[in-house]
Amino acid sequence: MITFSVEINTIHVYNIDSEDLFAELEMEKEMALRNIREYGDDVLAKECRAVKEITPRVKELVDDMLDTMYEANGVGLAAPQVGVLKRIVVIDVSPEGDQPLIMINPEILETDGEQTGYEGCLSLPGKSGVVTRPNYVKAKATDIDGTEYIVEGEELLARAICHELDHLDGHMYVEKVEGDLVDNEDLVAQQEKEHEEAAD
Ligand SMILES: [Zn+2]
Repeated sequence: MITFSVEINTIHVYNIDSEDLFAELEMEKEMALRNIREYGDDVLAKECRAVKEITPRVKELVDDMLDTMYEANGVGLAAPQVGVLKRIVVIDVSPEGDQPLIMINPEILETDGEQTGYEGCLSLPGKSGVVTRPNYVKAKATDIDGTEYIVEGEELLARAICHELDHLDGHMYVEKVEGDLVDNEDLVAQQEKEHEEAAD
């Protein structure tokens, strides 16, 4: 009997400790940023592997990718951009940045139309270039709970889906740029000038 109660006590103490540890981990998990790999890094030129199972590690990666994308003011981020060769992208084109789209093993099913405009990438900070993309994209993907879904997007969302999915096959938008890459500062100055001229 004495031995039994000691064991119970031991278990009880262990539970308290693990709860404290859990609380600490939760706090650390509030914001986990990963390093964004830049253009020229080998990892950005490689083919990514399909995700076979949504493990806690995959969930943590997705959380970190969202934190990293929002912190960098991006509208999309692909796993290879944080050095992980898995077919995962996160996108959020909403103005408030509160509508994350998590795409695991995404595939484009249909495209339509055309849009030509400036595009940038968190792996090439401060630069933009003109790229022509479909204006409409229908894609399928798996969400964080393992459910397959269909997403349809136009304009910026269509562009973001195409851009991010290219990363999963080791491609960057610079391969598709029409003309030269421009500095974002010059682009902003040019757009302001055009805006002023339009107002005159
Ligand atoms: Zn990119």
